[in-house]
Amino acid sequence: MTRPQHWAVVGGGLVGAAIALRLQAAGFEVVLIDRGDARRGASFGNIGHIAAEQGEPMPSPATLKSALGRLFAFGGPLDFRARDVALWGPWALRFLAASRPAAVARNAETLNRLLDDPLAAWGRLAVLADAPDDLIRPTGHAVVWSAPEAARRGLEAWRGARTGTATFRPMEADDLAAYDGVLAKRPAGGIRFTGTGQVSEPQRVRDALLDAFVRRGGHVVRDDVTAVRPVAEAAEVVLAKEGVIGVDRVVVAAGAWSAGLMAPLGVRVPLIGERGYSVQSAEHAWADDLPLTVFEDRALVVARFSGGLRASSHVEFGDPSARPDPRKWRHIEAQLKALGVAFSDAPDRWCGPRPTLADYLPAVGRLQAHPAIHYAFGHQHLGLTLAAKTAELMEQMALGRPAPGWLDALRIERFR
Ligand SMILES: Cc1cc2nc3c(=O)[nH]c(=O)nc-3n(C[C@H](O)[C@H](O)[C@H](O)COP(=O)(O)OP(=O)(O)OC[C@H]3O[C@@H](n4cnc5c(N)ncnc54)[C@H](O)[C@@H]3O)c2cc1C
Repeated sequence: MTRPQHWAVVGGGLVGAAIALRLQAAGFEVVLIDRGDARRGASFGNIGHIAAEQGEPMPSPATLKSALGRLFAFGGPLDFRARDVALWGPWALRFLAASRPAAVARNAETLNRLLDDPLAAWGRLAVLADAPDDLIRPTGHAVVWSAPEAARRGLEAWRGARTGTATFRPMEADDLAAYDGVLAKRPAGGIRFTGTGQVSEPQRVRDALLDAFVRRGGHVVRDDVTAVRPVAEAAEVVLAKEGVIGVDRVVVAAGAWSAGLMAPLGVRVPLIGERGYSVQSAEHAWADDLPLTVFEDRALVVARFSGGLRASSHVEFGDPSARPDPRKWRHIEAQLKALGVAFSDAPDRWCGPRPTLADYLPAVGRLQAHPAIHYAFGHQHLGLTLAAKTAELMEQMALGRPAPGWLDALRIERFR
């Protein structure tokens, strides 16, 4: 039997771009369709961390216990847009179900399979993209705390956490002294991870994937996809301006907007836009050899990229296309000021939606009811980390190779 040859990938964020490149390199003819507004998706302004250490599922009794104290109303990073309650209300009920201990254990098992050495998967994809050596940097990262008590509690929590293929050690006085001159006050304590990393800049990574895709003969269409529909054994992608594209197979990888494309297919998914906020400054004093740093007691991450210093924070549940809330940028800028981090007074401000399913596992697979339609979305806080691995899984599926049994846990039909 011949393999279906023509594929369309809907969505050119990191996940869609990685899949398109993998499929093209595997010998398929691939068209990638994206609206073409790079700043709109989560892939543009994220903090660039290859977060191999995030082996603890977000829905858990511990998350529920700490949620109240983390609300934006009390100075924390967590917010629920009141007018979008119809979106996050039903989602939150499923989140509660996913926080039960038995579900946490199941989800942790799947998450840790996915998180198995993401740096290696990125290394393989970078070779395929013929990317510059500094694009993916296996530099590890640091987690620091400003007060001794927070450091003690933080270290204890990390010692009890699943960290996958990543390992850590407490930071020594010398490690902490590296922040002298960069922060107003040296952190009280910290841990230094290995087996994790960062990228030179998230948008550079996406550009490298898309450039390689086009060099290999891939075709990019800039348009809005209004529908994806099955037609006999194949599928069609309906575009706002350019008509209809007929293909053998489609992958829906439209990030936080994927639910709207799945609903007409009879698939209702508890997907929410979990928006984060970033600010970036071309001028800064962050040393080249300082790692990406998580200021855990401030829920703030800072990373030096090729284009400047970026800081990000906030978790805001609601409509992925809603107008940003400028208070959140001001909050990040105030945090940077309090830390003493040199930063522009007029930074580049960005906000974008993490695509998050209620159990915080992505959906990767093919529709049972319409097998020509595949999907890869819902990568929450880990879309950069998991994009390369997701693309490898999709390639295996496209080639008709046997899938590992644990992949069943990522089927979209789990939400029936
Ligand atoms: C502040 C912040 C920090 C983060 N930090 C990290 C991190 O350090 N490490 C990490 O691993 N992850 C991080 N993430 C998460 C990560 O950015 C996302 O999980 C990831 O970018 C999702 O990629 P995606 O390709 O699925 O979606 P997106 O990047 O949102 O891409 C979807 C694309 O599809 C397009 N699209 C949508 N609908 C349509 C349509 N109908 N027609 C045509 N095109 C369409 C969109 O325009 C967009 O270009 C962070 C996220 C945020 C917000």
